[in-house]
Amino acid sequence: MFYMFTFFGIILLRYLAMAGFAHRLFYHHQPANVSVPRDIHLSVLSTGIFALATALIMTLYDQGMTRLHGRMDAANWWVLPLSYLAVLVLQDAYFYATHRLFHHPKLFRWFHQGHHRSRQPTPWTSFAFDPLEAGVQALFLIGVVMLIPLHFATLLAVLTTMTVWAVVNHLGLEVLPLRFPHHWLGRWVIGPAHHSIHHRRHGKHFGLYFTFWDWVFGSEDPAYADALQPSALVRPGA
Ligand SMILES: [Zn+2]
Ligand SMILES: [Zn+2]
Repeated sequence: MFYMFTFFGIILLRYLAMAGFAHRLFYHHQPANVSVPRDIHLSVLSTGIFALATALIMTLYDQGMTRLHGRMDAANWWVLPLSYLAVLVLQDAYFYATHRLFHHPKLFRWFHQGHHRSRQPTPWTSFAFDPLEAGVQALFLIGVVMLIPLHFATLLAVLTTMTVWAVVNHLGLEVLPLRFPHHWLGRWVIGPAHHSIHHRRHGKHFGLYFTFWDWVFGSEDPAYADALQPSALVRPGA
């Protein structure tokens, strides 16, 4: 119970601070087709689910049932960045598969409708998940700490990346740094341009961090791929 309340507070504050900061920085007017109160309401519910999952992880840790540890070994420092990247790659694949499933007509209503309420995403949408979807996402974290040896710092880095990335992906198109998606690295990394297409066209762009799975399974919007061509940078009037 102590873990539960502590993590509820931490996760909620983290969401409000991150989304609020991005909102102040980038939004000078409220975009149309957006419902901030509904997104915040769902985010508070998601916070409850993630707090429950984190409390469960700490309880499992106390009982020696996770592979989380605090040992720092100078000779094997490279394990930290490597395990960090491995978790991101695994989470990206898990997210792609479950996200595609959630868009199945039989599941959408129960798992994923809430996230798509705002036709145009804002930073407040970044943590707006139906409780069932939040549960499926949290399940990944529980599985990962039980199966993969991870330093606490690595887990913290993954959670931070997850939060920051979600806020950036939901910034909406008009605040997109124009050059970045056309950069060679931007081709493989998901950003606001990529994810806002998903909110407008549900059948495209299911990925979380990397464009890889959308590219492999043909769920990439052809217009997005075209926009990545160098010639597309020179647009009349742009
Ligand atoms: Zn979706
Ligand atoms: Zn989204």
